[in-house]
Amino acid sequence: MTVDPGEGAHVRQLLGAYVLDALTPGETRRVCRHLRECDGCAADYVEVAEAAALLGLVNEEDLLGE
Ligand SMILES: [Zn+2]
Repeated sequence: MTVDPGEGAHVRQLLGAYVLDALTPGETRRVCRHLRECDGCAADYVEVAEAAALLGLVNEEDLLGE
């Protein structure tokens, strides 16, 4: 069984909450998996993460996973 991450399954609407760690564990896993396979959403994630960092909503250690 293969899950197609492509058409219609993008996670852009979830990225804001993902950056703020406000998703459910299931959603977090889904976004995480999708970002590895979708360049478009991965690029959006970087932008959202940078914007959140600029706003002081998250600190850089969190973004770096340390
Ligand atoms: Zn996507």
